[in-house]
Amino acid sequence: MWLLLSVCVFCLLGCSAGQDRATLWRGNDHSGRCQYTFTVPSPSETSCSPTVSGGPEMEGLKARLSLLEVLVARLTGGEIGGPGAGLQEALTQAMGERILLQGEKARLERDVEGLQRRMEEMRRETERLQSRPCYPQSPLLPPSIPLQDSGLRPAGDPAWQYGGNPVLQELKAEVTEIPAPSPEGREDSTGCGELISIGEPVSHRKADSIAGKYGVWMQDPEAVAPYGGKMVWRIDTVGSEVRQLFGYEDIDQLSKGFPSKVLLLPEPVESTGATLYRGSLYYQRRRSRTLLRYDLASESIAARRDLPHAGFHGQFPYSWGGYTDVDLGVDEQGLWAVYSTNKAKGVIVVSQLDPHSLAVKRSWETSIRKTSVANAFVICGRLYTVASYTAANTTINFMFDTATGQGKEVALPFRNKYRYNSMVDYNHAQRKLFAWDNFHIVSYDVRLGRQ
Ligand code: CA
Repeated sequence: MWLLLSVCVFCLLGCSAGQDRATLWRGNDHSGRCQYTFTVPSPSETSCSPTVSGGPEMEGLKARLSLLEVLVARLTGGEIGGPGAGLQEALTQAMGERILLQGEKARLERDVEGLQRRMEEMRRETERLQSRPCYPQSPLLPPSIPLQDSGLRPAGDPAWQYGGNPVLQELKAEVTEIPAPSPEGREDSTGCGELISIGEPVSHRKADSIAGKYGVWMQDPEAVAPYGGKMVWRIDTVGSEVRQLFGYEDIDQLSKGFPSKVLLLPEPVESTGATLYRGSLYYQRRRSRTLLRYDLASESIAARRDLPHAGFHGQFPYSWGGYTDVDLGVDEQGLWAVYSTNKAKGVIVVSQLDPHSLAVKRSWETSIRKTSVANAFVICGRLYTVASYTAANTTINFMFDTATGQGKEVALPFRNKYRYNSMVDYNHAQRKLFAWDNFHIVSYDVRLGRQ
């Protein structure tokens, strides 16, 4: 900078080199400091009086000095605060942004690495699950296996082997709780109702001697000790002195022909009308209208009573004959007797009996002749009659409702598979008809409608 200033000064000196009267004085000022004085005579002025001061040369010199001041200002402080400061600021800003971008790049790279690790873990988990065998769902599965545990349990863990999806188990539980609709839409499997249909006979045992051509078999629908509800009882009624009562532990033992109990009744049995109820055998004594209650536990007669005016020993039998004058049966409402009297002139009389004393509690007289039907049974207080004991395909042809005292003809198909049906009774515990058809001990499923 000082070099440029010296050049300018010598230039100015050069410009006035042609004027020989220029002088340079050197001396101390009033304070003693050394002072240089440079003088140049004006080429056109002879005096420094105010009237003649200025002129073109002075103006030219002022202009050159102003130009020199601008150049010096640019070379010194002027350039520092100019365009360079903007560049420096832009450079500083760019550097800051670069640092920020580098930080953002590092963060994104970390995120990518994290996602790659998770993808690898999921891939390995998928391979592990695919390599394991599938175990079937079990209805015995404990219902509280958490879903989040399913992929973490070892293969040998029983809980894992039974699966663990509570959602599926709840769906299964919901499905199993929905009852299937009955074909007729009127079936009542828990309560009483009118008989709708009777199934095909199922044979449990064929008697192996002539003594079993006809007879009666029973299960106590409301059994008491010492015999349970599975105990099956049987009386072969061929002969004039029927007194043997065979007991079987269950229906399988009956089918195999292995009785576990044989009781000798104190008084002989008439025909096939006996029944079991609450630990007692109820039957008609031979050649009489006397009813007996035989207690199975004490093996003795617990009650006896004549059935008032009842015909007996062939007076009002079923069409089959066989001295079937008095037919006893049990249903949901208790103990019943089906018979006839002279007063009733042969039509069926149905009476509800007191099971303890055998007294008649109430009687109804129907409109169907007893000798015209093959057999009868009571379901839910309704008496039903079988049309034929020999026709393979016959019907339930009459129903009498003790609740209303009204009877009506019906036509429910009924099958005598062995064509000699000597006994038909209802068991409400099994909801079946028990029958004895030509040596065969058989049963029928029944369907009841709603009340
Ligand atoms: Ca009967």
